[in-house]
Amino acid sequence: MKVKRRILVTGAGGFIGHHLVKRLKDEGFWVRGADLKPAEYETSSADDFALLDLRLWENCLKATKGIDQVYNLAADMGGIGYITANHADISRNNILINTHMIDASRLNGAKRFLFSSSACVYPQYRQKDPDVTPLKESDAVPADPEPGYGWEKLFAEELCRYYKKDYELETRIVRFHNVYGPQGTYEGGKEKAPAAISRKVALAEDGGDIEVWGDGQQTRSFMYVDDCVEGLIRLMASDFSEPLNLGTDRLVTIDELIDLVSDIAGKNLTKRHDLSKPQGVRGRNSDNTLLNQVLGWEPTISLEEGLAITYKWIESELRKAGRLPTLEARQIAG
Ligand code: NAD
Repeated sequence: MKVKRRILVTGAGGFIGHHLVKRLKDEGFWVRGADLKPAEYETSSADDFALLDLRLWENCLKATKGIDQVYNLAADMGGIGYITANHADISRNNILINTHMIDASRLNGAKRFLFSSSACVYPQYRQKDPDVTPLKESDAVPADPEPGYGWEKLFAEELCRYYKKDYELETRIVRFHNVYGPQGTYEGGKEKAPAAISRKVALAEDGGDIEVWGDGQQTRSFMYVDDCVEGLIRLMASDFSEPLNLGTDRLVTIDELIDLVSDIAGKNLTKRHDLSKPQGVRGRNSDNTLLNQVLGWEPTISLEEGLAITYKWIESELRKAGRLPTLEARQIAG
């Protein structure tokens, strides 16, 4: 009889982790989720869900017991406002999580360990122009990453390399570029641009205005969460242990992102740019050459398609919370 592979997903109460657990279950794996908190919007489909603070060594040992493969997604993180305002907390928390998780995985005999890094490791000096040259993996050094969050991610990548070299732990390192989709945080300060914009557009009156952080000309690329999960599973199954970008290479300005969401909502909105708010680097895009070579694949879901699903989900959450009129109430009023 074939023995089911046992997988641990840390950060399973969070956005990407929750989607990854669902997909791994669909593929027939036995899955343990671990997080500080349960999944927020839907019950996790994990076989076992452990509520654990993974900054603590003994909790990392509990989480990794009997596990073959680890997807380490747990992290203290959020949108640009949050990561700009919390350098010390984010660095300390994530260094503790990553250091304890990789060592506990090794001690408990896990065969593979995937670390979720970020495009925030790329040097700020390469991201000063909205029409940025897409970032390839080797661009990460000489280092000048995002303060706090980018530095700790870059160091944790190095830690993976050391564990591979010294202990022969099979490590995988993925650099995500802006992941979005349903079931992700959409308010409270930890939400990212696509979710924040969807919420603001949903709550705005047609013909009204919308607040935009920065001048709206900063650029990014965005990847729908189903593509992200597909890439993660492919990378884990590969034999590639160097850092790999996982994102799309379609560059859009934040103003364009707002226009796309406004079109989906069928609303005409005026943008009110707030230059006092943080906007991060001026431009950031993914070079997918290596991704294509290594995985023979790259994300395929269009921004229009992914944003439509995301917007509908956020709008329905706001309706459930009584912050938007229900469809029935609108029909009666109309
Ligand atoms: P998320 O915030 O939704 O999920 C992270 C989860 O980690 C949360 O549920 C949180 O409770 C958990 N966590 C935090 N501290 C913990 C602790 N001490 N112990 C246990 N759990 C803890 O974020 P996400 O978007 O799902 O991101 C997953 C991973 O991908 C993170 O490592 C993040 O840095 C990385 N990443 C995400 C993006 C993106 O666009 N979403 C971009 C780059 C990198």
